[in-house]
Amino acid sequence: MKRALSFLLLTFVTTGTYAQQPEANYDESRVPHYTLPNLLTCQDGTVVTSVREWERHRRPELLRLLADGEYGRTPKGNIKVRYEVIAENGKALNGQATQQQVMFTFSGQGREVKALALVYIPNHRSGRVPVFIGYNFPGNHSITDDPAVRFSPYFERLAVNDAALQRARGISRWPLSIIIERGYAVVTMCYNDIFPDRADGAPQSILSLFPQNTDGDARWQALGAWAWGSSRIADWVCRQPWADARKLALIGHSRQGKAALWAGAQDKRFEVVISNESGCGGAALSKREFGERVGRITSSFPHWFCPAFAQYSGREQELPFDQHQLLALIAPRHLYVASAEGDQWSDPRGEYLAAYYASPVYALYGLSGLPSATMPALHQPIHHHVAYHIRAGRHDVTDYDWLRYLDYCDRAFSYGRPLVTNVKPVAGHVLVIGIDGWGSYSLPKAQNIPNIRSLMQQGCYTLHDRSVLPSSSAVNWASMFNGSCPELHGYTTWNSKTPEIPSSELGEHLVFPSIFTLLRRARPEAVIGCIAEWDGIKHVVDTLAIDNYSLAEGWENDNEKLCRMAEQFITEQRPTLFAVCWDQLDHTGHAIGHDTPEYYQTLAHLDTLIGRLIQSLKTAGIYDDTVIIVTADHGGKEKGHGGKDLLEMEHPFIICGKGIRQGAVIPGTLMQYDTAATIAHIFSLTTPQSWIGRPALSAFE
Ligand SMILES: [Zn+2]
Repeated sequence: MKRALSFLLLTFVTTGTYAQQPEANYDESRVPHYTLPNLLTCQDGTVVTSVREWERHRRPELLRLLADGEYGRTPKGNIKVRYEVIAENGKALNGQATQQQVMFTFSGQGREVKALALVYIPNHRSGRVPVFIGYNFPGNHSITDDPAVRFSPYFERLAVNDAALQRARGISRWPLSIIIERGYAVVTMCYNDIFPDRADGAPQSILSLFPQNTDGDARWQALGAWAWGSSRIADWVCRQPWADARKLALIGHSRQGKAALWAGAQDKRFEVVISNESGCGGAALSKREFGERVGRITSSFPHWFCPAFAQYSGREQELPFDQHQLLALIAPRHLYVASAEGDQWSDPRGEYLAAYYASPVYALYGLSGLPSATMPALHQPIHHHVAYHIRAGRHDVTDYDWLRYLDYCDRAFSYGRPLVTNVKPVAGHVLVIGIDGWGSYSLPKAQNIPNIRSLMQQGCYTLHDRSVLPSSSAVNWASMFNGSCPELHGYTTWNSKTPEIPSSELGEHLVFPSIFTLLRRARPEAVIGCIAEWDGIKHVVDTLAIDNYSLAEGWENDNEKLCRMAEQFITEQRPTLFAVCWDQLDHTGHAIGHDTPEYYQTLAHLDTLIGRLIQSLKTAGIYDDTVIIVTADHGGKEKGHGGKDLLEMEHPFIICGKGIRQGAVIPGTLMQYDTAATIAHIFSLTTPQSWIGRPALSAFE
């Protein structure tokens, strides 16, 4: 063990001396002419032109290619994991953070492997926090001088006087106070716990827990195992009440940068993937043959890559893949590649170019990769959706690097703009009630709608809220929740299931940002629901931002079903934003006719259900902190709608509750898309430039 560790330390400290080896090229003019494998051309010759084709066909194909030729196939096996918090200190880092030490016990094949996570959680936090996940090299004890931090299991086997047990010698790479101060949690682990970084490390590694490997030259080794381990850390993090599972940043330096990229390619939970000087087999293009090359890396570290990769020793031009393809697998998530000028062994230009050549996949998603093939100057970071910087100095992780990563993550996790204005929200909850096919013409004549009339009296309303054209369902539900017009959000017709016009903006879930998206961004803890009688709504809103999207199936035989589902959701979940969309009035309109006794009967029935929802807000204890909006997608005439008659285009907009004026008529014009903007105003959310809706400001006190 002792001898093996010396080997590890030797290689760790002396990689720089390889720079003197005659076979390494550092002369840009001696980089061979090379052709990169095409990112968007499938093996069968098909050219990918859409996100769908990329995700369905090309992305899985590239994952297989890289697994079989470079990182190894992740084996199937039922590995059990037990987590145990073995130490906790609520006043770590001078009271800035809560420190936890969490033992992961992996078991399989009758064996166990232990790995110790070191966790810092900011004490000053409101709600869940974003999390940096990353391995350390020389053990948890190396990143802090805190004597309470235990030795990682790998190091526990060493003699007490071993130099490797010296504390804090890697402390400069983990500026914990800065990271915590910025509001991020940190979870780190010694990578040797997962796979001891030695040619003979496999028997002590997590590989030993899997059944006999039958993947031959495509069998995984250390890099595959480290990538797998990062995902197991993410498993644990995602269960923690303090962690925002949507905001995980995976960071890796050098060989850990290679593992981080491979983990990020496979595991979509990592929203940001950071490669710090990952070099050959990481971010750097192999075909440039600059600095460290395939032959050197696979002979120095035969246990890192799958055995197949060594076949390309001295034959990089024959590689059927290159590293830009690895980086592209991280799209549409955030990617940061960083280099150091003094680390030519890692080929900074090759790292930059790989990120640049990954850009076409980001472009498929409508996201900006790196702008040109020309590298930026030192200390001139580019922070597009793909980010890059090169700094002065040697192969290392410095405060300069961390500060850039923190700036980038701040933006990546908030999508680059202030999300919540400084204004206090008007109310804590919004209930939107949408009634399909409810024309304003009906209000003067309708009988037996006491709840609707009471909302009109207690709040404000207009009977001149206009539908967008055509005055049909999907296009109007889309405009109501997406805050914009059909020309911009792209849903243009009655039954739109996908934008007929490309959406002018794609949010984080790759659809036009809705009011649900905005609230989710700003308030990750918000409870968001949408329950409908017509399933067409799910195609035109960002359902991934919604905790509970449900369909009241079979409502035709049970016209109170949706109401019961909504009552349950309100009383049990106390939703922040809840949309209830009834279809039954439109059904009556189509079947029997608008403006008929049956139409008014259905409206009166819906009025009693609205009364029940108001009662459930009271039961849930949130009524006094709620704004209720009752509106419609469109009206109708005779047995239909879709035309330009005001009977079809004008529908009511009623708003009532906390912070809303009483008994006033909303003057001027109001449009379908103004509903979303009004909700954004209630929650003090900044709306995207692609929204054209304006809040109904005159309704507010
Ligand atoms: Zn409709």
